[in-house]
Amino acid sequence: MFRHQTDPTRLRVLSLDLDDTLWDVAPVIEGAEQALRAWLGRHCPRVTARYSPHGLRSLRDQINREHPDRAHDLSWMRVRTLELALEGCGYPSALAGDAFEVFLAARNRVALHADVLPALDALQRRYTLVALTNGNADLARVGLERYFDHYLCARGVGAAKPDPRMFHAVTEATGHAPETVLHIGDDPVRDVVGAARAGMLTAWVNRRGAPWPVDHPPPDTRISELLTLSDWLLRAASPGR
Ligand SMILES: [Mg+2]
Repeated sequence: MFRHQTDPTRLRVLSLDLDDTLWDVAPVIEGAEQALRAWLGRHCPRVTARYSPHGLRSLRDQINREHPDRAHDLSWMRVRTLELALEGCGYPSALAGDAFEVFLAARNRVALHADVLPALDALQRRYTLVALTNGNADLARVGLERYFDHYLCARGVGAAKPDPRMFHAVTEATGHAPETVLHIGDDPVRDVVGAARAGMLTAWVNRRGAPWPVDHPPPDTRISELLTLSDWLLRAASPGR
């Protein structure tokens, strides 16, 4: 299963990426942006009249460029965009909070891949599970809170994967050494390269069977669905069962 000789009984912690690992994120963001736009159209129509969806995105890109120190904080970026758009159209910027809540509620209506619940259910019995995300999904709202021991997000850590601070946060939160951690995620650089540099084992979630796309060492294992990994780990960890 793993590229190198790996003793799975040494693993204590599984850290999992969320977006595009446990659900497809593009349709979720699209739906959330539509819900936000509908809300703005009802409550702040001068904003939707002045800003097309593309116009709002350009405003966000501009704020992003002006605040590289906040680039890891997607929620701040969206709220700040809304504040500026609202102010510019003569609305109180405080409405940005209500508008962002509409976005967040829709952003957390995700469709879990079919393997997610059975795999998490099996894995949480043996491992400490950590959610490690650059995004702003909320475990309670997506219904996964009970499976995870820790939730670590770029906003809370102050840096985004592949920054080593994100992976150090995992070892800090769990009290386990990096070599006892397997990080599982879909992004070749943010997840696999970042975790490998931090000394962790890596599983690349490659649901579409793509070739390894970057000029970096490949992951320790690649999987098209989580149950393959959970079955293998649990069997390997309990030989004779
Ligand atoms: Mg991802």
